[in-house]
Amino acid sequence: MTTESKSFGEFSPPVRLLLGPGPSNLHPRVVRALSAPILGYLDPYFLTLLDETMELLRALFRTANRLTFPLSGPGTAGMEAVLANMVEAGDRVAVGVNGLFGQRMAEIVRRHGGELIEIAAAWGSPIDPAQIEEVLKTRGPIKAVALIHGETSTGVLQPLSEIGRLCREHQALFIVDTVTSLGGAAVEVDSWHIDLCYSGTQKCLNAPPGLSPLTLSDRALEAIKARKSPCGVWYLDLKLIEQYWSRGRVYHHTPPTLLIYALREALRVILEEGLEARFDRHRRAALALYSGLAALGFELHVPTPYRLPSLTTVKIPSGLDEARTRQSLLEDHNIEIGAGLGPLRGKVWRIGLMGQNATLATVLTLLSALEQILRAQGRLEKPGASLQTAEKAFLDA
Ligand SMILES: *Cc1c(COP(=O)(O)O)cnc(C)c1O
Repeated sequence: MTTESKSFGEFSPPVRLLLGPGPSNLHPRVVRALSAPILGYLDPYFLTLLDETMELLRALFRTANRLTFPLSGPGTAGMEAVLANMVEAGDRVAVGVNGLFGQRMAEIVRRHGGELIEIAAAWGSPIDPAQIEEVLKTRGPIKAVALIHGETSTGVLQPLSEIGRLCREHQALFIVDTVTSLGGAAVEVDSWHIDLCYSGTQKCLNAPPGLSPLTLSDRALEAIKARKSPCGVWYLDLKLIEQYWSRGRVYHHTPPTLLIYALREALRVILEEGLEARFDRHRRAALALYSGLAALGFELHVPTPYRLPSLTTVKIPSGLDEARTRQSLLEDHNIEIGAGLGPLRGKVWRIGLMGQNATLATVLTLLSALEQILRAQGRLEKPGASLQTAEKAFLDA
């Protein structure tokens, strides 16, 4: 049969509960927004939506930065845009490397000709601010310091507030990746003195992948405009892209209309709930998960003060076939969780409770599926105990 004469099956992907490192499930209102009629990129109605999306994003990032918008492309596009626009040949850039995404940033700095100063920590520990201070004092001038706020490969939430101040003192720009933290934990761009901050839409925002919310301080914009050479990636040149996301509305590339509709709706959902209430819900759902997992005999990989509520890394007990268990969760229970990466491959699972999935109901669904699988393997000691423990932890939190 030729491709032309063959009939392809009906398109109907399974409905899964997405509790991995992203994407997360979409809110029904976001799904509806995706089927709205498409508009031209200079249509007055669409331009109003753009302005509103920028305003909603400023509230989420807690910033007054004028240039706050969704860049076309996934989280990695935000990462590359920020670094490609900031780094010129020979610029010294310090990058915190304590997981896969820090490694990715370091590689991008190298590719754009930057002089990389790596500040390392173990996969599961935060970067020590004292080490950053040391680098700023002894290896300067440093053009920028770049950190991952929520390291999705390890489950670490990096404390940031102190570091922004240090960067200001030493005239370094502060770059922060908030792909897995934005919408799930506090991100305070202005009060933490963050100059360039990017995120992703498919993690705690419950919107489809494909946009990278981005915000730049005036200091960052000045640094970009003061470059000696043009940005090496035309598609990500923020000096050019800014001209579309400001009064001039100069065409640079066609923005993904439907994704912007979806993001605007996702942001409305988030701000209707309220940021503090949302962060508190993430915190309580994570505590419920921790307690339930402990009742099943699992241990967590990250020490208490540095846990990222939206992504939990849990150690695989010895003798448990981690891949088979994950496969059973997916195939028999329609639940996706993530495997470990890099040095944590085979050693941990990564469980995401992102946005609307950060609820007690979701935690109980996962725990009860895990209980069934463990019982079938003869590994469950007290049936139901994890559910009761999780519920109590949620109510007590
Ligand atoms: C997911 C993620 C990214 C990359 O986002 P993509 O949308 O997959 O390109 C970057 N940084 C962190 C911390 C992430 O979790």
